Amino acid sequence: MATAGRAAGTARETTELRPAAEGDWPSQLSPAEVEAFFARLAEHDPAPTTELHYEDPFTLLVAVVLSAQATDKGVNRVTAELFRRARTPQELLELGEEGLARYIRSLGLWRNKAKNLIALARLLLERHDGQVPRQREALERLPGVGRKTANVVLNQAFGEPTIAVDTHVFRVANRTGLAPGRTPLEVERGLERVVPARYKRHAHHWLIRLGRYICKARRPACWRCPVRDLCRYPDKTPAPEGAAAASGRGA
Ligand code: SF4
Repeated sequence: MATAGRAAGTARETTELRPAAEGDWPSQLSPAEVEAFFARLAEHDPAPTTELHYEDPFTLLVAVVLSAQATDKGVNRVTAELFRRARTPQELLELGEEGLARYIRSLGLWRNKAKNLIALARLLLERHDGQVPRQREALERLPGVGRKTANVVLNQAFGEPTIAVDTHVFRVANRTGLAPGRTPLEVERGLERVVPARYKRHAHHWLIRLGRYICKARRPACWRCPVRDLCRYPDKTPAPEGAAAASGRGA
């Protein structure tokens, strides 16, 4: 079973994103620094693994829609049961809104998600022969699917070099000076401009993992960050007493 990074956008996440005044932003990394930044992430994690469980484009799409305001672990627990019962648009439609709701009640926004996913399954059957479309516009017309979800599906299911900007990617891009921006779209455009082509395919996953496990919102673990020497964040967290710093360039 393959896995994918969490991606669905949420209003809560968007309002929590750091709307920094332009003057607060660190200076941007130079092209050579951006190259070094991604080379470092690639060296640490050559084939970034992703965390939502899925089997094909449709189950990926369902998992990503379910991941708004939910943890990947929570979504995986739900989909482990759900996909045994319904893993195609037809089967999901037959399950119905109430039936689907019984599986996903442990997740935030479950009522809306159940409603959207049933409408989404119906639209896929009516307009796309039950297949997940590969075009952004068609994806974004599906209920519950925004730009971020479309980017994840295009990247993960179809191998497109899209960079979905979630709360982690947004934070990392701003803190480091990689691609500062006021909105997820500004950051996405900035990343598209600066990330070298050969790193675009995995950039989303590298940045999510950096943000989720090291460059955390409240207390970034700068002392064990592999890109510490490149990062422009002025308030880097010092190593706690006795903690080993990241080796070499990251230290
Ligand atoms: S050095 Fe600190 S602020 Fe910069 S990317 Fe690493 S964890 Fe984040």
